[in-house]
Amino acid sequence: MLRFIPVLIALIVKFTTAQAQGVVPDALLCAEKQNLENRLHFRVNPNIYHGYNIHYHKLNFRINPKRNGYLKGSVFSYFTLEKDADSIGFDMKFFLQTDSVLYRGSKIRFSRASDVLFVHKPGGWKAGTSDSITIFYQGNPALYGGTGYYVYDFHATGPSVHTLSQPYGAYYWWPCKQTLSDKIDSLDMVVSTHSDFRVAGNGLLILDQKMDDTTRIFHWKHRYPIATYLVATAITNYEEFNQYATFHNRTDSLLVQNYVFPQSKTDLMRDAAPILPMLRLFDSLFGEYPFVREKYGHAQFTWGGGMEHQTMSFMVNFSFDLMAHELAHMWFGDKVTCGSWRDLWLNEGFATYLTALSYRYLKPRTEYLRIMREIRDAVTGVDDGSIFPKDTTQVNRLFSGRLTYNKAAFVLHMLKVKVGDSAFYNACRKFLTGPRAYGFATTQDLQTLMEQESGQNLDTFFLRWYMGEGFPYLNINWVQKGSSMQVTVKQRPSHPSVPFFQVPVPILFQGNNRDTLITLMPNKLEQTFALSLPFAVDTAQFDPNVDVLAKTSLGGMNQDKTLKDWVVIKGNPVTTRYLELATLNLKIEKMEIFNINGQKCMETGADFLHIPGKNAIFDIGVLSVGTYVTKITGNNQQTTLTFVKL
Ligand SMILES: [Zn+2]
Repeated sequence: MLRFIPVLIALIVKFTTAQAQGVVPDALLCAEKQNLENRLHFRVNPNIYHGYNIHYHKLNFRINPKRNGYLKGSVFSYFTLEKDADSIGFDMKFFLQTDSVLYRGSKIRFSRASDVLFVHKPGGWKAGTSDSITIFYQGNPALYGGTGYYVYDFHATGPSVHTLSQPYGAYYWWPCKQTLSDKIDSLDMVVSTHSDFRVAGNGLLILDQKMDDTTRIFHWKHRYPIATYLVATAITNYEEFNQYATFHNRTDSLLVQNYVFPQSKTDLMRDAAPILPMLRLFDSLFGEYPFVREKYGHAQFTWGGGMEHQTMSFMVNFSFDLMAHELAHMWFGDKVTCGSWRDLWLNEGFATYLTALSYRYLKPRTEYLRIMREIRDAVTGVDDGSIFPKDTTQVNRLFSGRLTYNKAAFVLHMLKVKVGDSAFYNACRKFLTGPRAYGFATTQDLQTLMEQESGQNLDTFFLRWYMGEGFPYLNINWVQKGSSMQVTVKQRPSHPSVPFFQVPVPILFQGNNRDTLITLMPNKLEQTFALSLPFAVDTAQFDPNVDVLAKTSLGGMNQDKTLKDWVVIKGNPVTTRYLELATLNLKIEKMEIFNINGQKCMETGADFLHIPGKNAIFDIGVLSVGTYVTKITGNNQQTTLTFVKL
């Protein structure tokens, strides 16, 4: 779906060039939420009745932003009746005024019931009949589209109109069938506007004709199935620049058509460059660009985010992240659309993950790792939450950037690590073809394909990571002596819905200019692994490739190296009444203090207990100023240290 970046932040991002925005800013969701709230109201309306399978629409509008957002036009619909019916229904907001409905050249009766237009055919229709009607109507949706479905606005050099119907706002501006179950098989949109303006749309531009000094007509033709919410137009004093993407193993290039505000053209021509390698990347990883016979494109708009309108994303700017996200939706969201709101993560998780993959393949590795860490940190900031939305009426939850975007993206990454790259990409390509191509898909479809391609049963994986809440906290401890390395991994799931996360635990051990990456695979909450390492380890790092969704603490020691300095005095000379001893996670058994004449002044009693890892603190207030020697027993040895008390 869409990303919402408040305009203020978008401007800041624009002026700090190298600084990429987070993959999904928390702020993105207010507008989606608004849209969805309307959609939910809509959904509970019991009067909705369509009664047909939609095949084709021809939209014909007159919109002149020089005057206002007023729309006058017609919608031709071609459909097949699902059952016998006297009337069929079109979703259409109450404020749109129906002028007439034509059936084979004659006016027929229509009626309104709140936000539905019913069209009545004399004698009714028989099930299975294919037929067509044309609805003539007018109105100014901009006066009612407070949620942003149809916006009359101004940018620095002119007025504009744009639409954004996601998820269920199309009926604010045209009579349609709003569902997540029936795509429009084919579409034409003809818009007449002022001659100073261009009109953005879906598919191929087959006509751009100035009729006179005040009228210019654009005809967009789209011959791929399209979900109703992805039909869009935008009209302003656009300037155009085109790019051409080339692909591996194909000779035909693809037009990338950009409609931009005149004042932004120079900047956006520069910023648009990465869209070409992104197209080539996604095309090679996930199969041919889904609308290859037509085009891809961007149309700038005044709203503070991006929206993946089919074949022409609407964009606030051409940032790397936003371009990658919206382009990714051409495969995940547009070609294959989530079949229900519970499956929304398929659109947004993939779009977020493909943005990270763009970093991986098109930017330095450090940038990719940074993005993956940002995604992981965004998820693990809170202990609970599943990708699966238990209650789709909870709007904040459904469009949670943390869960539906970021957690979904990271879980897709872990799925790829689990099944392997080739099984993952094969399953994705199959997900995007076959019965789901240009249709709808569910979470179960994805799981089944991943299982088929990998030969693995993924029930537990999906149960833990899709249905279950949270992630594991991992406490990792290592001890090396000679070549023997012992690693203990303790896990505490962050939420009780998951008893145990079976995650790999990759640890990079480094020392003496050598390193090795060892991946442990614990199968219980606490497990100790005995390894053999041929070099002395100085440091260890958890998950250097950022493959595991977990929050970790990692500590350890090389006993050979730390034997000598296993205990030190903190703050010498001692200026307070306390002597503080720091140890390397080892236990002090006993401590004695002698003066310079060798007389014992203090010692720990039988009840002394030191907790390894914590500093041991002794009150030496009774000692006078001078030099002392402390003898410390522990770590199978005695260590003598000298200190001065001031
Ligand atoms: Zn999106």
